[in-house]
Amino acid sequence: MHNYGYAIDLAMYYRNGKKLSQTEFDKIIEEAGFYRPMDYEGWHIEPIYTKGRRKQIASNDIVD
Ligand SMILES: [Zn+2]
Repeated sequence: MHNYGYAIDLAMYYRNGKKLSQTEFDKIIEEAGFYRPMDYEGWHIEPIYTKGRRKQIASNDIVD
């Protein structure tokens, strides 16, 4: 979905340099309206409104 502008790869760290756990990461992105479509990519997030519409977006059928 990167090629369609609907995906972000990121890592989050505390000020002390410690990386957030996957659970903490998931909680924050959920609050921000994102989700992780792929379990094996802990860093890859997409807007929740694209959930279930990835095929549509990929075929450019999204009009709204
Ligand atoms: Zn990605």
